[in-house]
This record gives sequence, structure tokens and C-alpha cells, in this order.
Amino acid sequence: MDCAKKKQCRLVVFPLPFQGHINPMLQLASILHSRGFLISVIHTHYNCPNPSNYPHFSFHPISDGLSESPHSAPDPVRIIKLINTNCAKPFRQCLEGLISEGDVKCFISDANWYFTHSVATALGLPRIVMRTSSVGAFLAFAALSLLRDKGYLSFSDRDSKMEEAVEEVPPLKVKDMPVLEMYNAEDAYKNIDKMVEETKKASAVIFNTFQELEHPEIGRLTQQLVSPTFAIPFHKCFSAASSSLLAQDMSSISWLDEQPPKSVLYVSFGSVAAMDGGKLHEVAWGLANSGSRFLWAIRPGLVHDTEWLEMLPNGFSEATSGRGIIIKWAPQQEVLSHPSVGGFWTHCGWNSTLESICEGVPMICSPFFGDQLVNARYVSDVWRVGINLHKDLEKGGTENAIRKLMVQRDGEEMRKRAMLLKERIDAGLKMRGSTYRVLDELIDFISSF
Ligand code: UDP
Repeated sequence: MDCAKKKQCRLVVFPLPFQGHINPMLQLASILHSRGFLISVIHTHYNCPNPSNYPHFSFHPISDGLSESPHSAPDPVRIIKLINTNCAKPFRQCLEGLISEGDVKCFISDANWYFTHSVATALGLPRIVMRTSSVGAFLAFAALSLLRDKGYLSFSDRDSKMEEAVEEVPPLKVKDMPVLEMYNAEDAYKNIDKMVEETKKASAVIFNTFQELEHPEIGRLTQQLVSPTFAIPFHKCFSAASSSLLAQDMSSISWLDEQPPKSVLYVSFGSVAAMDGGKLHEVAWGLANSGSRFLWAIRPGLVHDTEWLEMLPNGFSEATSGRGIIIKWAPQQEVLSHPSVGGFWTHCGWNSTLESICEGVPMICSPFFGDQLVNARYVSDVWRVGINLHKDLEKGGTENAIRKLMVQRDGEEMRKRAMLLKERIDAGLKMRGSTYRVLDELIDFISSF
């Protein structure tokens, strides 16, 4: 019975305060709102979403105990650990208040809010987890503690084994393990282990993905989880109001309007990854020497210890004049769906990877850490819609990769395979398609509480 059709029930959602987590949670909330549920968003002050973009939701800020303001290159491991401690009490008080107002059907938590299971259980509220990574990456995270025990992650050992397959998590190699070596390793692994443990206790888990893309991984996941799982590509089901924390530069779309079809390489490394000047130079000279048109989103703080473009190499502007623009932050979904865009050089954050696949855009993958390494392997070896440059950019390698993707036959074939994936996802969204059915099942599941 669909409770949402009978009377309006409330769902409480709790996004983790990072761009790559806020976007999917508010997209999911928008989908559920369009199916008749009322939405309450509990959120931290840190990286607070903009309530005016969602006038139909109610927003409830809680204290997070963080003294710092949003930072362009945050340490997510430290912040996740801190807010899981600092938010426990205020979150409980806020949730109790919402429950006392009545009609709260269930609570949807980001998987990284690992303290919330015990709170929801104590308050007698079903807790569904929304996981922002791919299913393949979740399986790798779930295997991490075992792999750590087997020595796969001890760095001295790793170097000689980099190319070895990790049989516990095919198709990954040792070099694809979702390590977070630039952060405090012990804290990182504790966060991950708790995230996995508490996700397994949820009443259900929702992944931002689609059946046709991760069919084998979803099969392996259901052997590990007792609770039901739902695979839904959120941003394709609801073109939500923007939940961008930075202002998106819309002038990039008018510039794209003037470029030939499929000629532009869009370059962006997401909201958290940061690089040194050397890596920036590799990207810049790759773009300059390849001769390709490009739209490059350089987030302030992308390069360590800089405000914005100070570290761009001398001569770069002259070498690329008339065929490329640099902006601070792009309207990424619009950019990827623009007919002039023919490729995406990405850090392979899961949202970016999925957004690219959904628009049939092939990728150059430069993963930095964590699940980005896993996603890059899937993009290059499983779905075969991209070129994996791995973590370290080789001199000259970038320029060859750009040419291969943008003008050579290999790239054309990747583009065709990406277009096939786009067609499958579009078919799934139609009435009685796979995604459409999964969404109906999710609504029924929530309504059954
Ligand atoms: N994004 C954007 N403009 C940009 C770069 C990124 O709107 O210039 C959005 C992008 O569409 C995606 C999110 O920011 O939804 C980044 O999430 P992802 O998981 O790809 O990476 P993260 O930032 O978490 O590393």
C-alpha cells in the first residue's frame, strides 16, 4: 500500500556535508518528494545546503562543533571522524523533535554517518542507508579489512605487487585498492570499517547506480547484505534544483554553444581532490600540446597553497589561446550533456563517473584516492569507456591520452560504448523499465513501515 498516496508521510534525510554526498542525497529526496513524501533535511552548519533552492523541504541545522569554515581542500577523513562524534547529541535531539511532530515514516542516512544506526534504533525509527559510491567500490571497501590483514595495503609490500590481481575483489589490482594514503591511515580505515559495519545493519541500502551497469556487483552485494538493496541513478530520475555549494559559471555553456560537436574535452577533478604544482603542469601541458579544445574547471584551492591560477605554467595561455577556457566551477551536468563535449578528464568521483556515463561521454581517468581508484579501473577495463592514467601522471602521457580519446579510433570506440550505456540507462527510465521498477519497489518498501 502506498502510504504516500493516502496521506503525506515525512522522511528525514541526513546528507554528509560534502558536495559529492549532498548532491545525491538531495536528488534522492527530490525523487521521493515527487512521489508524495514530505522531506525534512537535517544538516550541519559546515557546507550547509542552500534551503532557498528547496522551498518545499524543511531544513534543520544542527551543531557540528567545527570551528573551521568550508575549505577548498578539506581533509574528509578528519572531518568525518569529528562530526560523527560532535553531531551525535544534537542529531538525536533534532530527530526526537521531528518524531514528536508525528508522521515520520523513516530516516535516510548517508552511509558515512555511522553513529546514526544506534540513534534511530533507540528511537524506534527504520533507518535506510544511502551509499554514494558504486556497488563495486562498496565491495572493495567491505573487503578492505581482510585485505589489510593479508598485507595488500602495507605500502612497502605494495610497490612490488601493484599489478597483481586481488582475487577477493575482481577486477581490481593491488594498485586499485581504495587507499587514502594522504590522510591519517588509521582514522581512514576506522571510518571505512564503521561505514561498512553500520551499512550492513540498515533496513535497506540505496545505491546511486543502475542495474545494467553493475549487475554482477549487485549480485555479489546481495550475498553480503541481508537487507534489500535498490539501484537508482538519482540525477537521471529527477533534474533537481542545484545543490552546488559553489556558484556554477553558466558562461561556460554559451562558450560551448560556439564549439563544434564533440570537440571539447571537459576537465574537472571534483570538490575535494587537491594537487601540487607539478601535477597541474602535467595537466596544463597535456592540454596545450594535444591541440584539443577544452573547458577546465579549476576550483579555488585545487592546487595546494594557492588561491586560484598562480601556478599555471608560463606560456600556457598563449599556447591555448582561442581553444580553451578556465572557470572556477562548472554546471557539470549541463556541460556533460552538451553536444560540443566529446570527453571528460576526471578524478573519477562516483557522481562524476556516473554523470559522464549517463550522457555517453568517454573519460580520461586520473584518480587521486579512495573509491576513485576503483571507479577508474571499472571505466577502463570493465565498461571500456575510458583511459586510466592512474594516480601518477607520466610526462607526455597526458597529451597522448587526450589525442587518443578525442580524435583517434580508440576514443571513437569508447564513445560508442558509452553511448550504448546511455541508451540502456534511458531505456531503464521509461515506463516499466528497470529503474522505473526499482523506484516503485523502493516506494512500496518505504510505505510498508
Ligand atoms: N561538480 C560541479 N561542478 C564542477 C565539478 C563538479 O557541479 O565544476 C559536481 C558534479 O556534477 C558532481 C559533484 O560536484 O555531482 C562531485 O562529486 P564527485 O563524486 O564526482 O566527486 P567529489 O567532489 O566528491 O570528489
